[in-house]
Amino acid sequence: MVFSEKHELIRQLARGFAETELTKDILDEIEETGVYPPELLAKMGKAGFFGIKTPKQYGGQGSDYISYVIVLEELGRVSAVTDIWVSAPNSLGGGPLMLAGTEEQLQKYLVPVATGKGIMAFALTEPDAGSDAGGTVTTATEDGDYYVLNGRKTFITTAPVADWSIIYARTDLTRKDSRGISAFIVDMKLPGGSVGKAEHKMGIIGCPTSDIILEDVRVHKDDMLGEKNRGFQNAMKTLDIGRIGVAAMSIGVAQGALDEAIKYSKQRKQFGKSISEFQAISFMIADMATKLQAAKELVYRAAQLKDAGSSEAGVAASMAKYYATEICNEIAGKAVQIHGGYGYIKEYKVERIYRDCRVFTIFEGTSQVQQMVISSALLKK
Ligand SMILES: Cc1cc2nc3c(=O)[nH]c(=O)nc-3n(C[C@H](O)[C@H](O)[C@H](O)COP(=O)(O)OP(=O)(O)OC[C@H]3O[C@@H](n4cnc5c(N)ncnc54)[C@H](O)[C@@H]3O)c2cc1C
Repeated sequence: MVFSEKHELIRQLARGFAETELTKDILDEIEETGVYPPELLAKMGKAGFFGIKTPKQYGGQGSDYISYVIVLEELGRVSAVTDIWVSAPNSLGGGPLMLAGTEEQLQKYLVPVATGKGIMAFALTEPDAGSDAGGTVTTATEDGDYYVLNGRKTFITTAPVADWSIIYARTDLTRKDSRGISAFIVDMKLPGGSVGKAEHKMGIIGCPTSDIILEDVRVHKDDMLGEKNRGFQNAMKTLDIGRIGVAAMSIGVAQGALDEAIKYSKQRKQFGKSISEFQAISFMIADMATKLQAAKELVYRAAQLKDAGSSEAGVAASMAKYYATEICNEIAGKAVQIHGGYGYIKEYKVERIYRDCRVFTIFEGTSQVQQMVISSALLKK
């Protein structure tokens, strides 16, 4: 794809930020301590990364999906966990609000989320309702002006540090399917609400993930998001958009892996020559670059369709997420292979990349769920 001057400028800005701020020392420290530096988050907020698509009147940049993709791509090329911090407010945190928030809710919650002054988690998954999120068993029962929430959400990104969370809970207890679920904006400090221990994850260390436990949490009716019993639609539409984000991270992270593989293959000598001179290695690099380019085109197309308001955008986003996340894992694996034993050692960037991207084919809809979305769209025609 050929980008406009405006988009090229956004790419330069994001690349400049990544190269200046996301230094090896800082990234190593995040990996060691598990803590993402608050001052770096503040700089990202100041750069406008938390509200790229959020309208200007709510503190955002009012930009398009292509811009969002470019920023994630450039930051992800250097640091996958930074992408998680950027996508969270743009997509899973801000997304449900932009889809269904009242003016009052947008002012109260979207403005701080888009400017980095508050963190909103997105809590759909439960211990027994993952891919089958319509099987939500968390309940919200009406009591005067309040709903009383009970249940447990699992694997929730940023939950341990979040100010609020969108919680999807069953309001129609006569149903067991996706109809009858509502969305609520829940203050994480409300009595009865708590978080589980931060999970020890394989990768994306520095962005905490935990359970959210709800025991008789009283949420005011004003904090219901959107219409009663229409919460599942809100979650699915949010994930439709979120998938473009994970796909964008994948092409950025894969580009980082390819960069490292090319650099290393030229430096490393065996049998008296650079390993890049062996066809087995150079053809591997040719395959990695070709598949990455194909993935990029799928991701840019999905973003373009979304910007154009096309009804094909949802399926295009699923295709982009499915392909880009799978080939990102393949490219990261090959980058480790090209590094030989050194690729298995933490000092080399590809070791972290390999672990970081493993989750991309899992969260925001597994690859198998994407196959279900794509095939059902094709077969219902
Ligand atoms: C680091 C991390 C962060 C996360 N962040 C969030 C978050 O912020 N908010 C949130 O709500 N959730 C979050 N999740 C949860 C994530 O979205 C789920 O893990 C994911 O949707 C899969 O659900 P599951 O883990 O229960 O797997 P399952 O649904 O149990 O799937 C297990 C396997 O079965 C396959 N499978 C399931 N159903 C089918 C089917 N019908 N056909 C074929 N194959 C099938 C899956 O593809 C997978 O391979 C996060 C997860 C992780 C690991």
